[in-house]
Amino acid sequence: MPSPYKSKPFPLSNLNDGQQLVRVRCAYCRRTHHYFPSDLIQIFGDVDVDSLMTRMRCEASGDHGSLKVEAIYPSGKEAVGLKIRRLVSIKIRREPVWREE
Ligand SMILES: [Zn+2]
Repeated sequence: MPSPYKSKPFPLSNLNDGQQLVRVRCAYCRRTHHYFPSDLIQIFGDVDVDSLMTRMRCEASGDHGSLKVEAIYPSGKEAVGLKIRRLVSIKIRREPVWREE
């Protein structure tokens, strides 16, 4: 029985780009970043907002546990000077795979 508090999946594309942001906070080191939904879609696809808690990692350390993720409408006062973390590029890491022959 799913928890009544867990709403149905809410994909990133449901957020209103340009007005809504995704706030991601690490409880461990108290870093907070704000992202545009469209940037996150480029990385994770159009996934459920809540699922980002486990998909994203704290940038300070990969093992700070799950992050607090919420969609916000920054209010006028809050929006002023709010730094938004924009996607610059996606680096593809080349990982060698070896096998003994
Ligand atoms: Zn952290």
